[in-house]
Amino acid sequence: MTNQQLWQAVLGELELNLSKANFTTWFKNTAVSCIEEAKVLISVPNTFTKAWLEKKYHQSILKSLQNFVGPQIKEVVYRVEMVKPQTQKMETATVSSSSRVAEPRNEECKKESVQNKFGLNPKYTFANFIIGKNNELAHAAAQAVANNPGKSTYNPLFIYGGVGLGKTHLLQAIGHSLLAADSNKKIIYITSEKFTNDYVQAIKGRTMERFKQNYRSADLLLIDDVQFMAAKDGTQQEFFHTFNDLHQSDKQIVMTSDRPPKAIPALEQRLISRFEWGMIADISQPDYETRIAILKAKCVEKELVLDSDIINYIASAIQNNIRELEGALNKIIAHQQFQHVTLGLDLIKNILLPQVALGRKSATPKQLINFVAEFYDLKLEELLGQSREKRLAFPRQIIMYLMRKELQSSYPAIGQELGGRDHTTAMHAFEKISNEIETSDRLKQEIEQIKQRLYSN
Ligand code: ADP
Ligand code: MG
Repeated sequence: MTNQQLWQAVLGELELNLSKANFTTWFKNTAVSCIEEAKVLISVPNTFTKAWLEKKYHQSILKSLQNFVGPQIKEVVYRVEMVKPQTQKMETATVSSSSRVAEPRNEECKKESVQNKFGLNPKYTFANFIIGKNNELAHAAAQAVANNPGKSTYNPLFIYGGVGLGKTHLLQAIGHSLLAADSNKKIIYITSEKFTNDYVQAIKGRTMERFKQNYRSADLLLIDDVQFMAAKDGTQQEFFHTFNDLHQSDKQIVMTSDRPPKAIPALEQRLISRFEWGMIADISQPDYETRIAILKAKCVEKELVLDSDIINYIASAIQNNIRELEGALNKIIAHQQFQHVTLGLDLIKNILLPQVALGRKSATPKQLINFVAEFYDLKLEELLGQSREKRLAFPRQIIMYLMRKELQSSYPAIGQELGGRDHTTAMHAFEKISNEIETSDRLKQEIEQIKQRLYSN
């Protein structure tokens, strides 16, 4: 069991009791850097995070570490160091002396902080990617792009799908594959949030030329989670130009998102149409067989031996996404290795109980309304208000549909929740959306995505 696996397991536990926003804010770029008898060293990216973890989350972190390692753990020390040194060329200049990478203290630490050139995760390769019905099209398109980058039919490639379904994995696999064929290729992997940040920094620091030069000299530009592309600050305009430049010089662009281009609310029309130029492929939830195949492959990767009844149990209990499947395995590994026992099905059911319960938890109407508002980038007051504009009426109908279908609410209750509407309105909405789903793949996808978010939060 590596420190990384241990930390994954701990994070898996902490995540259950935190909001997603809090969790990402405080635990992004943290890691276990060393364990020295009773002491665990946690590396954190800055002093702010350090102070916050010490103040707010220390007890939970300690408890969880004890849970996995054993009661001998008495002390947790938080140390500011860069966990993942950013290796993209453009960034070296912006790393200030105060945030220099800390010297690793021993071999173990060194191993943990090694990162692949271009910031690609070494595990996210095609070889490690299991193909199922849910992702075969996206996988085939990704391979086509890796074999023939820049060919116009697949340029850009746009991959979309819900959380934890393998978008980042596939995106980076393209990068690895291209590098393996030609190590001189320049690959940029970046999230759209990071792109936005870089752009803002470049403006502040008057380094726009370097910014442009950097992005426009890429052979392969991989942009992750474009749904977070900021609407303001000229980011989209700059991205538009970068896009055109690369596309004209037959350089390959690949993007991922949690939804198709048209459904990204804050995206400019001209970018939407650019994104639709090439190939759009979706990844949906894996079916039972694919989940089994993924679990088996991950067990081999992690050198974990599990009976088939256990594998079958996990595959049927955890259905939402692949990250959760992996999380379940990490948890089992942590328990087995630190307690030096092989766990049977009953114990495993116990260990995974919080996760399974969470996966099945039912959302409240309020949560549902909030999610839909967030998904379509609408204000709550608008959504619950009286206006019948189409941009409001349609999401409202989706809410009514989901409240009925997923939460089994009564029609009068639905009308009530949605700003005191009549129950017949709710009935009508339910029928309308039920019918439209049959004929519109796009609507079906959108509703799937909303459901996924609803249950994965
Ligand atoms: P996303 O970017 O869609 O949220 P990720 O690419 O981060 O999801 O995938 C989540 C985890 O699941 C990663 O550890 C990834 O390796 C794993 N994973 C996803 N899809 C597959 C697959 N088809 N085969 C093997 N591992 C997968
Ligand atoms: Mg991702």
